[in-house]
Amino acid sequence: MRIQLPKAVDEDLAADLEKQSVYVSPSVRGVRVAATRDAVDVDFVDDKDPEAQAKVQRYIDTMVSRFRKLPKKIFATNTRKDAAAYGRDVYGELKKRRWVLELGHGQVGLAGPALACMRALDAACVKLGVERFGAVHENYPALMPSEVLARCNYFKYFPHTVSMVVHLVEDYDKIDEFRRVNDHGTHLDVPDWKAFETPKVCLNPAVCYHCYQAMEKEKMSADGRCVTAVGRCFRYESKNIVGLDRAWDFTMREVIFVGTESWVSERRQKAMEAQLEQVQAWDLDCQFETANDPFFSAAYATKTYWQVRNDLKYEMRLNVEPGPDGAPRTIACASANLHENFFGKTFEITGSDGNPVFTGCAAWGLERLVLACFSQHGFDKARWPESLRADVWS
Ligand SMILES: [Zn+2]
Repeated sequence: MRIQLPKAVDEDLAADLEKQSVYVSPSVRGVRVAATRDAVDVDFVDDKDPEAQAKVQRYIDTMVSRFRKLPKKIFATNTRKDAAAYGRDVYGELKKRRWVLELGHGQVGLAGPALACMRALDAACVKLGVERFGAVHENYPALMPSEVLARCNYFKYFPHTVSMVVHLVEDYDKIDEFRRVNDHGTHLDVPDWKAFETPKVCLNPAVCYHCYQAMEKEKMSADGRCVTAVGRCFRYESKNIVGLDRAWDFTMREVIFVGTESWVSERRQKAMEAQLEQVQAWDLDCQFETANDPFFSAAYATKTYWQVRNDLKYEMRLNVEPGPDGAPRTIACASANLHENFFGKTFEITGSDGNPVFTGCAAWGLERLVLACFSQHGFDKARWPESLRADVWS
């Protein structure tokens, strides 16, 4: 089905329209914006949802009416020295070698040189945090109280991406019924949804929230502190989930800054410079530019605008294997973020100046970085930069 738009839409809006459309209805696989950008083709999976067409229309109307064009700022670019072409079907090759283990929808394990690569990249990020910023190590659970995410406004801005954790209520009859209908041992059956309650916990969508939560009501005497942590993060991306590009369950390393406004913003700036030095050492093509967190239509205008206007988020986009049609592709593999004093106010953390603290973080998506490395340096050890070669190919 084709929907005509009132006028040709902006390139950025077209990309967002396609990306977020997976959440519109289970009966809609997604939408594709025509090359002329003045029409949208809707791809239906089935006709089970009678409201699907109306939902697509409402979705498009909201996205189009709230869109505002934002200027993009480029912090830096890097061009690799490795002159060979990017690999094709890199993910397929990693799977064939058993270096990537596909274990479910968006659930990917690593082994062999791919795992060694992830560890080497992570070690470099730890070194960056510890040596340049005196980061101390912390380790967090994968679970996070729903109430904490609520206070972080997560259910307001990203409800569609949250993974909520449920368990059966403590009720002998309901547990027994559950046991009986699952006697077959082949899949999961839910006989009665009342056997669950509103989820008390969720899987954490980012590493740094736990750090701020752990500092609740603290009064800092120092100007700032730096923490580093690595953890599994969970973001449900529906039909956009693919390979190592966009996993539901992935590994994120963060270097986190908490302190006065100037202390944090100076360090975020230095962290960006350090991140750029990293990709130079890893010899990767990349562009480091302003970005915004993708989120659903209702919050479109205000939050995006606010974020980019203030340069709050920079994303490092790295080239990976081209798409099936040969088109070039980049994915965001790292970011450097400022949150102003949002977490300072939310968790009542007071800085040495007596004001709610400012926070910021540098973050790396480690599986995506692995994909970028294998896409750009291939499977021939000799092509890999010295900074990674011995660790990856030992
Ligand atoms: Zn963070």
